[in-house]
Amino acid sequence: MTTQSRRVVHITRGMPTEDGAGVKLTRLVGTPELPDLDPMLMLDTFRSDNPGDYIAGFPPHPHRGFETVSYMIHGRLQHRDNKGGEGLITDGGVQWMTAGRGVVHSEMPAQTDGAMFGFQLWLNLPARDKMMTPWYRDIRADEIPSVKLADGVSVKLIAGELGTAKGPGPERPTAPLIADITAGGAFALPIPDGHNAFLYVIDGKGVLGADKRSVTQGDLAILSDAGSLDGTADGNLRFLLVAGKPLREPVAKYGPFVMNTQNELRQAVNDYQRGLF
Ligand code: FE
Repeated sequence: MTTQSRRVVHITRGMPTEDGAGVKLTRLVGTPELPDLDPMLMLDTFRSDNPGDYIAGFPPHPHRGFETVSYMIHGRLQHRDNKGGEGLITDGGVQWMTAGRGVVHSEMPAQTDGAMFGFQLWLNLPARDKMMTPWYRDIRADEIPSVKLADGVSVKLIAGELGTAKGPGPERPTAPLIADITAGGAFALPIPDGHNAFLYVIDGKGVLGADKRSVTQGDLAILSDAGSLDGTADGNLRFLLVAGKPLREPVAKYGPFVMNTQNELRQAVNDYQRGLF
């Protein structure tokens, strides 16, 4: 049996931006260069040891129509929402929040100094689930399985399946695969065919894909849509891999609302203003 190897079709380093009350971050997906990669709508990373870059946090704001997945590599972030969801994400922890028909939440640093390094992914919901009941789960670092895939290849599996391992993330129609992978040599990772996929290099460098493209810390590499992800680390390579089954539905975005039509967006704004979240 021959297996196809995915290619790297594009590499971006994203754009610096600010969000919340003035948190400095890098937007990797959700930019003019890369508006989305169905069903992944946005990926932000924040990485700083200067409190001035993160201390303002994300005071109360609404969401409707999708999910936010926050992964904290280092630091402490306190979450509170108006549906009773509350939790502290700390080093290696994940927060999975399904906004569904609407939540108002805040995400505030629970530290006043030191390093903060994390990600937030926006994952779309299919049209039929956009108005689902909001859902929330904290996943502590020790609930995330650490799997040895091969010699020198270890995976912290947040969601989805890799080999025989299964992550604690919820099952969704988009079958999300989210994994924090460290490789010290060659690796071959099975990604379901048809899933859109990208990876972000957290540390180190290496070569990726059928064309052996070089990537280094801070690169986001977008992969072609079928086959495995093959690569070789140059030293140690750590990356966040995200993949999902595309929904192929129209996307209408306005700030913190992601629906299918302009009418539904107007409805979201109205409902929020009338206090219906
Ligand atoms: Fe939010």
